[in-house]
Amino acid sequence: MNGKMSASNPQTAAPGAPAEARPSNFIRDIILDDLKTNKHAGRVQTRFPPEPNGYLHIGHAKAICLDFGLADEFGGHTNLRFDDTNPSKEETEYVDSIMEDVKWLGFHWDGLFYASDYFEQLYEWAVQLIKAGKAYVCDLSADEIREYRGTLTKPGKDSPYRNRAVEENLGLFERMKAGEFPDGSRTLRAKIDMASPNLNMRDPVMYRILHASHHRTGDKWCIYPMYDYAHGQSDSIERVTHSMCTLEFEDHRPLYNWFIQQLGIFPSQQIEFDRLNLTHTLLSKRKLLQLVQEGHVSGWDDPRMPTLCGIRRRGYTPEAIRNFCGAIGVSKTNGSIELAMLEHFVREDLNKRAPRAMAVLRPLKVVIDNYPEGQVEELEAVNNPEDPAAGMRKVPFSRVLYIEQDDFREDPPKQYHRLSPGREVRLRAGYFITCTGVVKDERTGEVVEVRCTYDPATRSGNAPDGRKVKATIHWVSAAHAVDAEVGIYDNLFTKEDPSQTDEGKDFTSNLNPNSLEVLSHCKLEPSLASAAVGGRYQFERLGYFCVDLDSVPGKLVFNRTVALKDTWAKIEKGQRGKG
Ligand code: ATP
Ligand code: MG
Repeated sequence: MNGKMSASNPQTAAPGAPAEARPSNFIRDIILDDLKTNKHAGRVQTRFPPEPNGYLHIGHAKAICLDFGLADEFGGHTNLRFDDTNPSKEETEYVDSIMEDVKWLGFHWDGLFYASDYFEQLYEWAVQLIKAGKAYVCDLSADEIREYRGTLTKPGKDSPYRNRAVEENLGLFERMKAGEFPDGSRTLRAKIDMASPNLNMRDPVMYRILHASHHRTGDKWCIYPMYDYAHGQSDSIERVTHSMCTLEFEDHRPLYNWFIQQLGIFPSQQIEFDRLNLTHTLLSKRKLLQLVQEGHVSGWDDPRMPTLCGIRRRGYTPEAIRNFCGAIGVSKTNGSIELAMLEHFVREDLNKRAPRAMAVLRPLKVVIDNYPEGQVEELEAVNNPEDPAAGMRKVPFSRVLYIEQDDFREDPPKQYHRLSPGREVRLRAGYFITCTGVVKDERTGEVVEVRCTYDPATRSGNAPDGRKVKATIHWVSAAHAVDAEVGIYDNLFTKEDPSQTDEGKDFTSNLNPNSLEVLSHCKLEPSLASAAVGGRYQFERLGYFCVDLDSVPGKLVFNRTVALKDTWAKIEKGQRGKG
């Protein structure tokens, strides 16, 4: 055991089955082949390489599950490496949150590294490339470099500095490092091929001058390596065998390999897979940062955010996210996954583990006229029908109750089977009650109280004479209820693809104005008074709810994680029906 929690995805679950026999994907197949040919002496080493410029989101969870999950499966190792080559955007706050999120997902890294650990080595390798005539200092500005680069249909032009002598390059690079030149005045470039059909190979920039303080190296450096120059070599230093990244890096692979070949270092292999896109949300740290900075959400951990800290606060479980990531698999083409599918996995997991409770979100008072005043009974309720070990709990019952406003109609429409004048319904875990009348607000005419009688013989939830009721509704005893505020969350964006906007507008124009509804007068059964922050419950008939970070005893705050209705299960059933 290497101390990792097993978090293999359900596709690869069946423990004990021979590796070849399990459902696979193309990355897993590459690893299996490499193991067969003993390419790396049976070693599987991966890494998860976030740039600490924001909080992780559900897209990163997909990468994490692959990097850690595949290494775990084959007894390999995974490093957490912060890709911190861009000091102007990176912060320690992000480093800390990333570590917390990876752990929360249930994974443990073997090595913890920073690309900045390798600045010295990368510098030495750059000098080596200059000496070999493979790199040169270029005085073109960023705009000029772009212009000289050409386009897909037009070859590039050589920089006038391309043929500088080795000694001159060495001297200038040394002086760049010493801080003699202003930002942007010079770069170090690889000398490859300005006519290459791959734009990334047209003398890419390796180093730029940037007088900025780095979150770890402080002011030691004023030249910083570019992603393409740092990434493959960092992989190589860590002897990473399989370096998984998203498809947008496919065109960078020749450059990744070029540096490794020129330097003659460990040949890590880059493998690209599809980026996760989810409907009704955005998976881009830059855009999520904009939502935070412009105040569209309360922070990175707003329960509407697709960040891991946001969905954690919302009540999603790490198990649900891992199951989801396993189910979506990997492919070589980008697509988009229904948010409903993620929610399906959240429901499926919470159904198994969340204790049930009764909560009334929009209370309507019910008085049971034939129930003795001052009497209280403790009724027994099942904690979780999916989990017999969860046992039973006591729920107090008394003369005055709250029910959901939606569970009463004075003039019920045809299909409506819940409480209405003259109608009998069952109270969850309790008696049958029959509505005998209403009390209305004199001014508004609104029903403010429902009068009922109960049948003492139905305490078990059934009538001895076998008569049936068409509905069972939830309730709480008014005198025993605890007050709570509940946040009802909906999609953050109205559009499936929020990046599609009308002309001149940005993605924030697609924000859903109704993504949060705060209900401040909710009434909960008393067992919830001691619910701890992060606690997850199913509120009977309503959905799954989680105790918010801001909740304190006496001022409870819950978030709705997800409603009970599972649209994805329906879609899936429909698809099965068709297929
Ligand atoms: P963003 O655009 O949100 O900043 P990024 O790709 O720049 O994302 P990194 O911090 O560089 O974020 O990502 C770390 C790892 O996570 C990379 O290997 C990256 O490919 C992967 N990753 C990022 N977003 C997704 C996604 N939506 N789906 C799958 N993998 C992702
Ligand atoms: Mg990035």
